Amino acid sequence: MKISETLKNGRLSLSFEVFPPKTDSNFESVKTATEEIAKLKPSFMSVTYGAGGGTSKYTLDIAKNIKKLYGVSTIAHLTCVSSDKETVKKKIEEIKESGISNIMALRGDLTPEMEGTDRSHWDYKNAIDLVREIKASGYDFCIGGACYPEVHPESADQKEDIKYLKEKVDAGCDFLTTQMFFDNNLLYNFLYKIREAGITVPVVAGIMPITNANQVERAIKLSGSFMPQRFKSIVDKFGHNPDAMKQAGIAYATDQIIDLFANNITNVHVYSMNKPDVAMAIQNNLSDILGI
Ligand code: FAD
Repeated sequence: MKISETLKNGRLSLSFEVFPPKTDSNFESVKTATEEIAKLKPSFMSVTYGAGGGTSKYTLDIAKNIKKLYGVSTIAHLTCVSSDKETVKKKIEEIKESGISNIMALRGDLTPEMEGTDRSHWDYKNAIDLVREIKASGYDFCIGGACYPEVHPESADQKEDIKYLKEKVDAGCDFLTTQMFFDNNLLYNFLYKIREAGITVPVVAGIMPITNANQVERAIKLSGSFMPQRFKSIVDKFGHNPDAMKQAGIAYATDQIIDLFANNITNVHVYSMNKPDVAMAIQNNLSDILGI
């Protein structure tokens, strides 16, 4: 099923993200964890893709498995950074053959070696090039794209970032999913600006439950997200106690989601990081709100 249809039906939707294994040896444990999350019957699940190709061969295996066993709609992420046309076209064919109708079209992060090098000869410089390639395939995929309430780290400013985002959507994105954020006001402000810029597709709010103190630094490094004082106090107080930090992190994420739903943001995607216990706790906290 096309995810864009789910996002437009007006009902509250909660979806989860999982990532594929890095090696053969942990395939089974990741498969089990993703199946546990699929049993929660979320609105859909997304399966990430390793930018360097390291974990890419498992993305489809995991996505197919979840769909086949639990009937949960899946979206396969695909990145294009430094890839050539032949490789990308083959990947698009593989996704089609897998029976998956949703692709998250991403550029992928630049490695330190790539930064500052001449990229003019690359087949794909930005996600928009991948969106166009998927469209050119002639297959009727639902295409998702990434967006950044706190501005993509490479952008000069938000105006420039939103200008390129509009071009990406106009090229064929059916919906957008946001980078994680820990202050909902950043999202509300961003939504106002993109709607004003003429971007009308559904936007799925990405929420990352921080359940251990080590994740904080990683999350900030990856996303450049602003950490509100309220969240910093939680980490300072409970960061040394894993059980307490997990409970507080789940409560914080739940609180963010309730505020989003209350403010008419109907679609929330949880970066559940292959943690069924965290996904389940958040969904249980919202059961009456979601009516499940
Ligand atoms: P783009 O849309 O290409 O944007 C990147 C930068 O280029 C921005 O600054 C933008 O303003 C600018 N830009 C865009 N178009 C143009 C243009 N035409 N000309 C000049 N500049 C332009 N990474 C993975 O490796 N695997 C994943 O599975 C994955 N999943 C993700 C899911 C979500 C929801 C998000 C938010 C991120 C995900 N990422 C993933 C990370 C993502 O690959 C990085 O954030 C990457 O740096 C940018 O990807 P993008 O698709 O947003 O790129």
